[in-house]
Amino acid sequence: MQERYTNKMDGMVAIVTGASRGLGRAIAKEFAAEGAKVVVSARRSSPTGLIGTAVETAKQIRDAGGEAMALTCDVSDEEQVMAMVGQTIDMYGRVDVLVNNAGVMVLGETLLDIAPDIWDLSVAANLKGPYLCSRAVLATMIEQKSGSIINIGSRMGSDHEQGGGVLYSSTKAAVHMFSFCLADELKEHNIAVNILSPGGLKTEGSAAIPWTQRDWEQRVEPEAVGPSAVYLAIQDASTFTGQLVLRVEFGETWGKAS
Ligand code: NAP
Repeated sequence: MQERYTNKMDGMVAIVTGASRGLGRAIAKEFAAEGAKVVVSARRSSPTGLIGTAVETAKQIRDAGGEAMALTCDVSDEEQVMAMVGQTIDMYGRVDVLVNNAGVMVLGETLLDIAPDIWDLSVAANLKGPYLCSRAVLATMIEQKSGSIINIGSRMGSDHEQGGGVLYSSTKAAVHMFSFCLADELKEHNIAVNILSPGGLKTEGSAAIPWTQRDWEQRVEPEAVGPSAVYLAIQDASTFTGQLVLRVEFGETWGKAS
């Protein structure tokens, strides 16, 4: 382990969806470096053709001395989600953190460009996924009387002038409101629900979208999001919940940079 880590997540069990590459992989690695046991999940094979698998991410974590288990899961499939959470509990006995990161980015396309099947796929991954995954971990978190759910939001979900377009922006706006409502619902169980808006990232997914070239140089590596995700992971409803936070403001308007 590198020295800068302080084992802030020692003993915690975290599920990170969409951790085959990009932001999910970076968060999974950061959690593991902070002492968490990490369940790294993604689909068995990616229809995107982009690089990275959950098995590879888990291996990278174990090679660095961390603890990780790779599980196949399409977050839009209830059976697969229930199986993923069941296997996590069988293996580690608890779930402290869920990061709903898996997502599809259809950026800047017009309504007429977006075919109905692409619409359905995006809504299924970006909105139904967080619903199914949150639903699957709740019984365990309620029993534990603690937990942290982190939903990955977006500036596109709050500001139509960012140019994300009708599909991606709508799904992320829905994720924001889903999170606010769920945070209210879960306060009495001491479960935190927050939205982390990471800002523009240089991920494999972003690189595949021509639209991102407009601000590519302003984008940051996904590893920059790690510390703010760790901060949210170690919260419960008594400390920090129901917030939409920007990664770029971490340590300034919210959280501690230590
Ligand atoms: P990415 O490189 O395309 O990675 C997306 C991840 O989501 C992959 O691991 C992919 O796994 C997984 N995924 C997609 N659909 C899935 C499904 N139905 N079931 C399970 N896994 C699925 O994207 P990224 O840039 O890292 O984005 C990650 C998250 O951050 C997304 O929610 C995105 O909206 C959000 N975000 C990104 C940016 C940015 O600038 N990149 C900015 C703000 C927010 P497979 O291997 O199975 O395809």
